[in-house]
Amino acid sequence: MATVVGAVTRAVAAIHQSQQSLTVPSCTSVAASRAVSSQSSRSGHDLARGYSSGAFFASESLHSFVARPANGHQQRRGSCFVVHADADYYATLGVNKNDSKADIKSAYRKLARQFHPDVNKDPGAEQKFKDISNAYEVLSDDEKRSIYDRFGEAGLKGQGAGAGDYNNPFDLFESLFGGMGGMSGKGGSPRNRPQQGDDERYDLTLDFKDAIFGVAKDIKVTRLDSCNTCSGSGAKAGTTPSQCSTCGGQGQVLTTAQTPLGMFQQVATCPSCNGSGEISTPCSTCRGDGRVRTTKRISLKVPAGVDSGSRLRVRSEGNAGRKGGPPGDLYVFIDVKSDPELKRDGTNIYVSAKISYIDAILGTTVKVPTVDGPVDLKIPAGIQPGSSLVMAKRGVPVMGKTNLRGDQLVRVVVQIPNKLSKEERKLVEELAEISKPEVAAAR
Ligand SMILES: [Zn+2]
Ligand SMILES: [Zn+2]
Repeated sequence: MATVVGAVTRAVAAIHQSQQSLTVPSCTSVAASRAVSSQSSRSGHDLARGYSSGAFFASESLHSFVARPANGHQQRRGSCFVVHADADYYATLGVNKNDSKADIKSAYRKLARQFHPDVNKDPGAEQKFKDISNAYEVLSDDEKRSIYDRFGEAGLKGQGAGAGDYNNPFDLFESLFGGMGGMSGKGGSPRNRPQQGDDERYDLTLDFKDAIFGVAKDIKVTRLDSCNTCSGSGAKAGTTPSQCSTCGGQGQVLTTAQTPLGMFQQVATCPSCNGSGEISTPCSTCRGDGRVRTTKRISLKVPAGVDSGSRLRVRSEGNAGRKGGPPGDLYVFIDVKSDPELKRDGTNIYVSAKISYIDAILGTTVKVPTVDGPVDLKIPAGIQPGSSLVMAKRGVPVMGKTNLRGDQLVRVVVQIPNKLSKEERKLVEELAEISKPEVAAAR
C-alpha cells in the first residue's frame, strides 16, 4: 500500500507542477504523462462537478483543475462582499430626528438645487447629490424611515433602498421639481438632446475547435443606422425645422386639472412635437427618426479560448444614436458546440483512452485525440484502471494569453476480456500459477 500512497503524492505534486508550468511558456513536450492513481479517490463528490459524461477522473486531479478555469476568477470576483459604512441620513440632510416630513422635504429641495451636477461643477457634487437623494428617499417614506430609525441602513436591505439599491437620484429630482423651475429647463428637453444608441445583441454559435483556437467570422448584424437621406437629422432634405407653436419650443406643456382637492398643474410632454420642441417635415426614408434598420456585415475576430457564455464587445457597432448621439455597442454572445470525444472544462480537456489489460500490465503507446489532432501517448507499464494521465499544454489557450494553455487529462480505461481463447486461458492459468506465491505474500 505504501507504494500506492507514494505514487499518489507524486501525482498530486505533478499536477501542482503542471499548474505552475502554465506560466512557463517553454514547456511544450508532447506526452509528458504523469500517472494519477485513482486508488486515492476517497469520495465521488468532486467528480460530479463540471463533468457529467459518465467518465471519471482521479479526484485530486479534477479537484485541482476544476477550481482553476478562467470563469472561476469571475465567480470569485462575483462573490466578493462590499461593506458600506452606515450613513447618517439625518445629518446628510441637515435635519433633526424629530423633524417633520415637510422639514425634510424642504431641506432636500434646498440641498438638491445646490448640489445638482448641472449647476454645481465641484468634483464631489454629484456624489453629494446622490447621497442627499438617497437620504431623502428613505426619510420621506414613513415605512422606510421607521425601519431606518430602528435598524439603521442594514434594515433597509431588500426594501428597495439601502446599500447601493437606490432609485435614480435624477428621477427623484425630476419628480419633485417637475422639470419646471428646476435645472433641466436650460438644457432643452431630454428628447431634443443627442441620445446614445442602444446596444445590440448577436448570438454566435462556434464549432468546438474554433472556440479553442479563435476564428475570423463574418457576421450580418441588423441594427439601426444613421439615415443617409437626411444624414440622421430626421428632417426632409431642403427643409429646416421650425419651433413648435404648441409648446413654444419647450417640448413640454402645462396641463391644469380640477380635482376635489383643488386645481392641479401637471407637466406633460408636448403632444405636437413629442417633446422635441421642433416641428419638421419628416424625411420620407426614416419617417423622421433619423435612423433606418439596415443589415451590415461585420468581420469579427473571435479570440482563442472563448467558451459558451463568453461575450465579445464590438465598440460602436450597436444601434445609431438619436440626434447625433453616439452609437451603442454590439455584444456577441458565444455558444460553443460540443465535441463527441473531447470534453472541455475551462481550459482543460478531458478524454478517455481504452487499453487492454495486457497493455495495462506491459505498457503501451496509444493515439489519443487532442485539440491539435491525434497525438501518441505513452502509457506506463502497470497503469491502474481509472488512472488519469496529464498531457501538459494540450488544453485550451488562456484567453488573452495564447502562449498559456491548459492541459489534457486522459482517463485510462482498462478492458478485461469476458471471453478467452483456449490458448489464452492456458497462458493466464500458467501466469496465475507463477504469481501464486506473490499473491500469498501480499496477503
Ligand atoms: Zn411642442
Ligand atoms: Zn431620414
